Amino acid sequence: TSATAPRRIQALPDALISQIAAGEVVERPASVVRELVDNALDAGATQITVRLLAGGVRSIVVEDDGSGIPADQLVLAVQRHATSKIASLDDLEAVGTMGFRGEALAAIASIADLSLASRTADAAHASRLDARSGELQPAARATGTSVEVRELFFATPARRKFLKTDATELAHCLEAVRRHALVRPEVGFAVWHEGKLVAQWRRATGGGPSQAAAQRIADVLGADFITQSLPVDLHLGPVHVHGRVGLPDAARSRPDQQYAYVNGRFVRDRVITHGARAAYDDVLHGNRQPSWVLFVTIDPLRVDVNVHPTKIEVRFRDGREVHQAVRHAVEEALAPSRAPAVAAALQ
Ligand code: ADP
Ligand code: MG
Repeated sequence: TSATAPRRIQALPDALISQIAAGEVVERPASVVRELVDNALDAGATQITVRLLAGGVRSIVVEDDGSGIPADQLVLAVQRHATSKIASLDDLEAVGTMGFRGEALAAIASIADLSLASRTADAAHASRLDARSGELQPAARATGTSVEVRELFFATPARRKFLKTDATELAHCLEAVRRHALVRPEVGFAVWHEGKLVAQWRRATGGGPSQAAAQRIADVLGADFITQSLPVDLHLGPVHVHGRVGLPDAARSRPDQQYAYVNGRFVRDRVITHGARAAYDDVLHGNRQPSWVLFVTIDPLRVDVNVHPTKIEVRFRDGREVHQAVRHAVEEALAPSRAPAVAAALQ
């Protein structure tokens, strides 16, 4: 017969498990930037600085002024399935932080050189952990955390080969920071590449939250975006939709300015995209792509964020209620622009 002898089943070594997990979470330097900025935001940072070398392939440093990590927990921070953010299934279902899987730092450390320098407010000094050697040493820095990731994919050359030019990787890193910056106007962001400041979005001071949000959108997407868009703000059932939607005339050839968020998390979601797109049906023709920045807020119990390793996809308990809310919100916002379009059609 041609049956082969069964091969032995073996438990995988920890390091390999982490490398496999890293394959899901870390596609390119921008994935690391996203995870590290998520962590900084979860730590309550008000200023986040990203420093990159060679598009992030050689080095990514993310510095924050958040709560810091106690020295005796640094080793845990880079361990798989270790997190300070949830402790039970109830916590998971109501999760309000960006992270909760306790996997990012462990995954990154398995495919790059990672070191973590951190200081809590009550510590006499900062401490630095080198994840590879496990060496823990005193360090100097103010309250907060710096994570340094060097030589991404050094151990997985197949992955490394898929990387594009430094300029392309830098563009992806910038986009990752932009997605965070749009939704967190109360936090300042700066991105440096090869020692040069390439993007800076200052934290809002003074003014109300909606003024801060508008200012941040203008800073990130340009003042033109504001003049060529309309405000959105609608509560429908348990769903609140706010943000800005581009005028039909300002539609683009590519959907590269469509930012959707659910409870503060950037998502790619067909329900939201379809709902928003449907609101443009009678004012936009051909393949033109509208721009939007849409913040959907909903009871965390009505959305499952634990469906994708990078959490970029979510699952709504009731997709229809979200679709309707988004569609109505965008339709209502576009009403002033619709009137002239209808008039023109009747001429
Ligand atoms: P998760 O974010 O899912 O908890 P991570 O691997 O990203 O998992 O981080 C593990 C833990 O390390 C976090 O739960 C947090 O306690 C700590 N941590 C990571 N980055 C920071 C940071 N910038 N500031 C404070 N704590 C951090
Ligand atoms: Mg995290």
